[in-house]
Amino acid sequence: YMAPGKEEQLRSPCRLVLIPLPFQGHISPMLQLGSILHSKGFAVTVLHTTFNPPISSDYPEFRFVSAPDNLSDQVVPTDNLLFFISHINVKCRVPFQECLAKMVEQGREEKEEIACVIYDECMHFSVAVAEHVKLPSIVLRTTSASTYISRNAIVRLKAEGVLTSQGSTSQELVPGLYPLRFKDLPVSKIGTPEIFLQFITDINKTRTSSSAVIWNTNDVLELPSLQEIQKQNRVRIFPIGPLHRIAPTSSSSLIKEDRSCITWLDKQIQNSVVYISLGSLASIDKKELAEVAWGLANSNQPFLWVIRPGSVDDLEWNKLLTEGFTEAIGENGCIVKWAPQKEVLAHDAVGGFWTHCGWNSTLESISEGVPMICKPCFGDQRVNARYVSRVWKTGIHLENIYDRGQVEKTIKRLMVDEEGKEMRQRAKYLRERVELSVRDGSSYNSLNELIELIRSF
Ligand code: UDP
Repeated sequence: YMAPGKEEQLRSPCRLVLIPLPFQGHISPMLQLGSILHSKGFAVTVLHTTFNPPISSDYPEFRFVSAPDNLSDQVVPTDNLLFFISHINVKCRVPFQECLAKMVEQGREEKEEIACVIYDECMHFSVAVAEHVKLPSIVLRTTSASTYISRNAIVRLKAEGVLTSQGSTSQELVPGLYPLRFKDLPVSKIGTPEIFLQFITDINKTRTSSSAVIWNTNDVLELPSLQEIQKQNRVRIFPIGPLHRIAPTSSSSLIKEDRSCITWLDKQIQNSVVYISLGSLASIDKKELAEVAWGLANSNQPFLWVIRPGSVDDLEWNKLLTEGFTEAIGENGCIVKWAPQKEVLAHDAVGGFWTHCGWNSTLESISEGVPMICKPCFGDQRVNARYVSRVWKTGIHLENIYDRGQVEKTIKRLMVDEEGKEMRQRAKYLRERVELSVRDGSSYNSLNELIELIRSF
């Protein structure tokens, strides 16, 4: 008998356990990261909740394990997401620990070591669970680096008494956080201040107890923020993004995508269509729906609009849109419940994106060089909107209460006016630079260094 040499150890199969937060905007980047690492030779197990489980058939190359967490019948309290996240962390700890212990056992039998656990920053209970079975853990952050910095600034500003629990509507710039104003800070309307502060403490804790941080962002977009964060962190940060540009393409949609809109897009003129979507959680009221609808109709610009079931506070929204609206738009508009968004943004016909500025949507728009109309709803979306409009200058930030006249004017500014053309040019240029960093630059190097680190565990 001869002990395996270093070479052989490297070649033995090596498994990663991924723990995503069960929301669309968090499941997608985690599965994308899994695909990337799988393509580099790692075996992947996704350990997930019974609530909002990922669609396992989309990833036949992964193993999926559902932990018995008693969460399957939960209804998401969209008005109190942070409370829900803390509830998930409480409910998951024990069942996830048991599942992971079994996996470690099984790995020993199959001679397939688990290298580490990679968990979403919001699933912070994972640190203790990994420690319990003596596995290293790596945190995946799925919001922007600037959001992270501004969340920590909130804690500081609250301690200094500058910011109250209600947040602030002030237009003034926050010292040291250019271009963010007090009103852009991701102080949550959703959830009580104590829960918000606890949330920040929890996701910060992970920076000292994990072996590394993977960030779905990019040096081209956020170098100063990333440098500042790295200065304050003992563990290494790996900005590897946009993950969807590196991952082999496959869908991670929890809702069935309506592909008929691609056929409709095929019939439209290049750069003419406004694509509108608010992501998987944000919603609007019926008054806003009507103003957006008529602003769109009056702009005469073709549009593709995602109205997700449950995203309008009036279940009869269909009726709201029939009163003269259907006749007014004719073939000029297409409304679907859920779109294959990445494909839509990559389509030649799409010339602008009306977005709530979720981080995934923002990265997807940047990756396709599509300029934006930013209409953030809550949390980090306001930070992202500010970066789009002020730092990258590839979009218009639509603020405050607005009416159909303003909607029409804003669409024309982006789709027709010289101002919009300049934004589109900048968006194309930004896309090139991001693409370069993914193919052969900083994101590419970060990924290779991360793989080396995981191999060294
Ligand atoms: N998305 C989609 N089809 C739609 C609307 C959204 O596939 O019709 C996807 C979109 O591509 C993105 C995700 O849903 O990857 C939304 O994530 P984001 O971070 O933008 O927003 P969240 O839903 O977390 O608010």
